[in-house]
Amino acid sequence: MSNITVIGSGFSGLAASAYLAKAGHKITVLEKNSQIGGRARAFEANGFMFDMGPSWYWMPDTFESFFNAFGKTTQDYYQLVKLEPGFQIFFGKGEVIQIPNNKEELMNLFESIEKGSAKKLDLFLKEGKFKYKVGMQKLAHKPAISWMEFANYEVISGALKSNMFRSMKSYVNSFFKDPRLASIMEFPVLFLGAKPSNIPALYSLMNYAALELGTFYPMGGMYKIAEGMKELALELGVNVITNCEVEHILTQNKLTKSVSTNKGSFLSDAIIASGDYHHIEQKLLDEEFRNYSTSYWDKRILAPSSLIFYIGVSKKIKKLIHHNLFFDSSFEKHSFEIYDEPQWPSEPLFYVCCPSKTDDSVAPKEMENLFILIPIATGLKDTDELREAYFKKVITRLEKECNDTIEEHITYKKSYCINDFVNDYHAFKGNAYGLANTLSQTAVLKPSIRNKQLKNIFYAGQLTVPGPGVPPALISGKISAEQTINYLKK
Ligand SMILES: Cc1cc2nc3c(=O)[nH]c(=O)nc-3n(C[C@H](O)[C@H](O)[C@H](O)COP(=O)(O)OP(=O)(O)OC[C@H]3O[C@@H](n4cnc5c(N)ncnc54)[C@H](O)[C@@H]3O)c2cc1C
Repeated sequence: MSNITVIGSGFSGLAASAYLAKAGHKITVLEKNSQIGGRARAFEANGFMFDMGPSWYWMPDTFESFFNAFGKTTQDYYQLVKLEPGFQIFFGKGEVIQIPNNKEELMNLFESIEKGSAKKLDLFLKEGKFKYKVGMQKLAHKPAISWMEFANYEVISGALKSNMFRSMKSYVNSFFKDPRLASIMEFPVLFLGAKPSNIPALYSLMNYAALELGTFYPMGGMYKIAEGMKELALELGVNVITNCEVEHILTQNKLTKSVSTNKGSFLSDAIIASGDYHHIEQKLLDEEFRNYSTSYWDKRILAPSSLIFYIGVSKKIKKLIHHNLFFDSSFEKHSFEIYDEPQWPSEPLFYVCCPSKTDDSVAPKEMENLFILIPIATGLKDTDELREAYFKKVITRLEKECNDTIEEHITYKKSYCINDFVNDYHAFKGNAYGLANTLSQTAVLKPSIRNKQLKNIFYAGQLTVPGPGVPPALISGKISAEQTINYLKK
C-alpha cells in the first residue's frame, strides 16, 4: 500500500481518489477551500441554494460508468430527472425556440423552421452518435502520452470518418442554412472554449449528447454529484482534508517525497495534481521539474472565463424554463471580443439557469433561483463597477425578453468573476473552463498527464486530457489514477 496525495477535490481529484483507494492505496485529498467540489461548489444564502459552476448534466453514461466501477449507481447518491424541454433560446424581438428532449419532436421542430432539415438532422445526429462512441468512449480515455496510442485501425478510421479536421462551423453550415438552426447546433461547442470555426467537427458528438441523449438534472443541484463522489471516496477509506493548501512539492533523487501545506507535511509516494495545472507546476514545483516554460503557458489558448450572478427573486418568472440561452445579440461580435481581441463584450450573449423551475429545494416557495452567466475573455481587468454595469445590461435585456419586472424583486445578489477564479482556484488568467479544445491543443498536444522529470507526479483535471467539462474531469481522474497504479506496480 502506497501513500498517495491528491491535490484538489474537484471532480477529477475525487474520481482519481476513488479509483486509487479501490486499488488498495492510502489516499489523502488536500483541498485549499473549506468545501469540496472545486468549480462545482455550492452555497446557501437567504433560503436559496446556488450551484456555483456547472449546471448542464450531459452524457449521463459517463457518470453512470463512474459509479458502476465501484458497484454503485448514480441513484445511490442522487436522483436524476430528464428535463422537458431540454432548453430554450431567446432570439430577440419575442422569438423563443424551445428544444424538446425527444428526437421525433426535435425533427418536427427543425422541419417547421427549414424544409428538408429533419432528414439532415437525423443524419447529423447519426454521425454525432458515431463520434460520441469513438470520441468519448475511446479517444477520451487515452492518456495521450504518445500518438502511437491512437494508431489503431478503429480509432484512425473513426477520426477520419468523423471529419476530424474540418471546422465545426463549416460542418454545421453544410447541413443547415437557417441561422437559428445553425445557432442551435453551434451552441453546445461553446462549452469547448473556442469559436465553432476553430473547433474540429469531431465535437459534433456534443450535439448528439445534448440533443439525443438529452439534458438531465440531479435533484438538489449539481453539487449533489460532488457530495456523492465524496461519500463514495469516504466509503473507500479516502481521507479528505479541507482548508489545506499545498504550498510546495518536495523532491529527492528525482522523485517527490512529500508536500508541505498550511497544515503540515504529507509523505507522498505519488501525487495526483488535480488543481489548475499551471499553478501546480509554476508555483508548487521547483523550476527544474516543470514540464513547461512561462512562454509555453502564455501561448496556450484558454477557454473563456465568466461573469456570474447568483440571484434570488421573490416571485416566479413565467417566461423562463430551467435552461435559457439569450442569443438576442450578435454571436460573431461576442466571439470576436472573447477570442480575437479580448475585451469586455459590448452586447454579450448570456445564459440563465433557473433550477427552481425543476427543484423546489433550491428556492423558497413562489421564488426563483437564477444563475446568470456571461462568457468573457480570460485575463481582463475585473472591478465591481464593471460587474455592476454588466448586471444592468443583462437584467434590462432579461426583463425585456421575459416581458416581466425582475430587478425590483431581487432579494439576494452575488457576483463572481475573474478575480474570484484566481483567488479561489488559482486559475491561470482567471479561466473558468481550462484550455480550449482546438486542434492544436488536442490529445498529445495538451499539457501532459505525466511530469517528465518526476516519475511519481501525474496531472488530472480540465487543463490536461481529455479537457474541460464534468464528464471529461471524471475520465481525467480515471486516466491519471491508472497511470499512477501502473507506476507503483513497477
Ligand atoms: C461557471 C462554470 C460553469 C460550468 N458549466 C459546466 C456545465 O454546465 N457542464 C459541465 O459539464 N461542465 C461545466 N463546467 C466545467 C466543469 O465544472 C469543470 O471542467 C470541472 O468541474 C473541473 O474539475 P477539475 O477537477 O478539473 O477542477 P476544479 O473543479 O477546479 O478542482 C480543482 C481543485 O483544486 C483545488 N486546489 C487548487 N490549488 C490547490 C492547492 N495549492 N492546494 C490545495 N487545493 C488546491 C481547488 O481549490 C479546486 O477545488 C463549468 C465550469 C464553470 C467554472
